[in-house]
Amino acid sequence: MVDEHQSEVISKLMQRSRIIKVKDKTFAVTISERAIKSQIKRIAERINRDYEGKEPVFLAVLNGSFIFAADLLREIDMPCEISFIKLTSYEGTKTTGNIREIIGLNVDITGRPVIIVEDIVDTGLTMAHMLDTLKKQNPESINICTLLLKPSKLQVRLNIRYCCKQIPDDFVVGYGLDYDGFGRNTKDIYTLVKQ
Ligand code: 5GP
Repeated sequence: MVDEHQSEVISKLMQRSRIIKVKDKTFAVTISERAIKSQIKRIAERINRDYEGKEPVFLAVLNGSFIFAADLLREIDMPCEISFIKLTSYEGTKTTGNIREIIGLNVDITGRPVIIVEDIVDTGLTMAHMLDTLKKQNPESINICTLLLKPSKLQVRLNIRYCCKQIPDDFVVGYGLDYDGFGRNTKDIYTLVKQ
């Protein structure tokens, strides 16, 4: 017989060890939806303070940042624009090192305060390339807002003004982040289980 207390303990344990399978790989929850939302609120409050009286342009980097950008923008309480840009450099679970061009920038950012919204900064090479390209259009300022950062992987010096959470050097999926195109549609963030 399992009493009420025992079943509560069991259900908590099951939640803690929640795992999912994405294609051929197994991932376990490491950042809960609740933790993500509270970090986003914290960052949005800072942005609201820092950009008071301004009209920033948010540039959300597709595909990975689409959920983060949607949640972040709903916490922003000043007039602002958002545009979705794209550049891909990732295949499977390892950075390819090939950095492609920015597409989809349909807002004139000249003289405007720009905030780049990214899902995750790993080596930082993608972000460094993007900053160089965007700076050529003479924005008033550019700041980086990333959901996740792997500090131990950074290969370039980057001034990351807004970061929701630093994580170890592990591959993560969920909440917009994918493994080979799959796994974006979860509320929590999952880390690859090493086998
Ligand atoms: P970087 O140029 O900083 O090495 O790579 C940045 C891009 O690689 C991110 O925008 C993201 O698309 C991808 N990336 C880096 N680490 C991970 C990870 O752990 N999981 C997923 N799904 N994508 C990652």
